[in-house]
Amino acid sequence: MILYEFLSQISDAFFPRICLACSRILPSGRPEFFCSDCFGQITFLHGSLCPVCGILFPDSSSEDHLCPSCMENAHWFEFARAAVAYEGIIADVIRRFKYGRDLTAGEALAGLLADFDFDGVDFSAFDAIIPVPLHIRRLRERRFNQSLVLARALGKKHGIAVDFSLLKRRRFTLTQTGLDKSERDKNISGAFRASHSEKIPGGSFLLVDDVYTTGATINECAKTLAEAGAKRVAALTAARVL
Ligand SMILES: [Zn+2]
Ligand SMILES: [Zn+2]
Repeated sequence: MILYEFLSQISDAFFPRICLACSRILPSGRPEFFCSDCFGQITFLHGSLCPVCGILFPDSSSEDHLCPSCMENAHWFEFARAAVAYEGIIADVIRRFKYGRDLTAGEALAGLLADFDFDGVDFSAFDAIIPVPLHIRRLRERRFNQSLVLARALGKKHGIAVDFSLLKRRRFTLTQTGLDKSERDKNISGAFRASHSEKIPGGSFLLVDDVYTTGATINECAKTLAEAGAKRVAALTAARVL
């Protein structure tokens, strides 16, 4: 331990850790990714939520209740929750991770997801974590699946296996960015298929993705698993559009 601390001080002296958002030098010997000012700008999603889609209500003292969208539309997943709001610093960290292959940004995001206290989520009730899959073409472009990186951090923290073999992307879809809810639903419809479908019936699964926007992708994944016989599907994402 003493040797580790000594080596980490030497490493900090030569390669000081800097805040991912403002590049300020961080105090040595601490495993943080943001300075305290930038960390203070991150909105953690605690408070009054829609119990289905996890949207945060502005009045955090009110009771949890269904949001208008969940009152109108049924979902294939039991619940979706996210650790932080998709805005400012977090939107930038996600963009750098996904499109810039910034692995430190990925590590920071994985830490925010894995360390978040998802109040009321019983991790032991799930058989496996399933990362939202990328199409092989997208995987070749990007060289990694950001959801798998996040799923592994969450699985390690909560002692749940990650199984990326159960869900595949069968259709290449255009990016969902810039599409409205109905266009997103249409774009993603039929994009996934269940594989190793003997492992799915009766199982409880936790989907993991980087961002929940309208829920179209998560919902389509949950539908695919439910139609293959899953008993229960829920989802956790690092961030959520509010
Ligand atoms: Zn900072
Ligand atoms: Zn809702």
